[in-house]
Amino acid sequence: MRGLAAVPSYVVMQPTTLCNLDCAYCYLPFRAADRRMPVAVAEAVAASVNPWAVSARFSVVWHGGEPLAAGREQLAALMAPFGPDVEHHVQTNATLIDDAWCEFFVTHRVRVSVSVDGPRERNGDRVTRAGRPAYDRIVRGVAALRRHALPFSALAVVNDPAPGRAAELYDYCLDLGCEVLGVNIEETEGVNRRDNVHDPAVVTGFWAELVAAWRRKPQIHLREVEWSLRYAAAVLDGTADDLLPRRLDPIPTIAHDGSVVVLSPELAGFTDPHYGDFSSGNVLTTPLHAILAEAERTNWVGEFLTGVEACRSSCPYFGFCGGGHAANRYFELGRFDGTETEHCRNSKIRLLEGVLEHARNHQSPGV
Ligand code: SF4
Repeated sequence: MRGLAAVPSYVVMQPTTLCNLDCAYCYLPFRAADRRMPVAVAEAVAASVNPWAVSARFSVVWHGGEPLAAGREQLAALMAPFGPDVEHHVQTNATLIDDAWCEFFVTHRVRVSVSVDGPRERNGDRVTRAGRPAYDRIVRGVAALRRHALPFSALAVVNDPAPGRAAELYDYCLDLGCEVLGVNIEETEGVNRRDNVHDPAVVTGFWAELVAAWRRKPQIHLREVEWSLRYAAAVLDGTADDLLPRRLDPIPTIAHDGSVVVLSPELAGFTDPHYGDFSSGNVLTTPLHAILAEAERTNWVGEFLTGVEACRSSCPYFGFCGGGHAANRYFELGRFDGTETEHCRNSKIRLLEGVLEHARNHQSPGV
């Protein structure tokens, strides 16, 4: 795996910077402002995306802010330029989902992922702009999805991976009825400066407990654990070198104003005296495919690729991780060519260690 691929497998679109919630751990800088994406931006992105979607599976992920805060009319207008082969996804806090939104999801064939951190007492950081708990509204939105028999994924942020929390989260998600669960240990990034340093054994134990909970009732696709198991199986088969893509997926994020930030949506909207606004171009002036063809020349991207090579030569977890996330390096280390971050310790190294710990603890006697 070297350099960036010219064609991504998905793009992230920001229909508005606005979020109707004000979660304590949110990284977004302009979430109180409603800066809307003009339809011209979506048309420009679609001009590159539509041909890609004909030859391979391709997704547009509507992310925010809170994408539903843009409203159905605006979101429909932004989706209209994309062809029938493009899959649409929304990552939503679910608080605005009602019957009308569910009908919208059906009509526009939108796959829904809901942000929810477990039972009520684990959602204390998720509050409205008035500072009131958002949990009841989240659950009402999920109930609407279930009424309409719409399958959905869940994405949970964990800020305290204490013993018992992983099993609690998994059991909660079984009741919630999600098909897929992604788990993020809270990250220090963007405007969220809370630290994410945890006792290594506790984080490893969290992941081991999550695997154990999943193995008891493997009804949910568990994003991180399934990837770890695929990696472990590939190591045993001697095929681990084939697992990472040959080139990094650039995962372009298209900000509301058409600017394109590759590799890390979390960098969009930030500026730095040395790196500028992190953007590799703007789709209103340059086609997306042309921006991506030159993206490796963006100053910080070259530095990040140097960091990936440093990971490759120094980290025993590289084959599993592929070199970590650009935004975590920048927000934790202040540069892109470093290697280990707290994020990669929590969510790559200890994840793999947790899966192995579970396997060791459940070895059959005599093996
Ligand atoms: S686990 Fe950390 S140090 Fe290792 S390859 Fe990933 S980002 Fe680099």
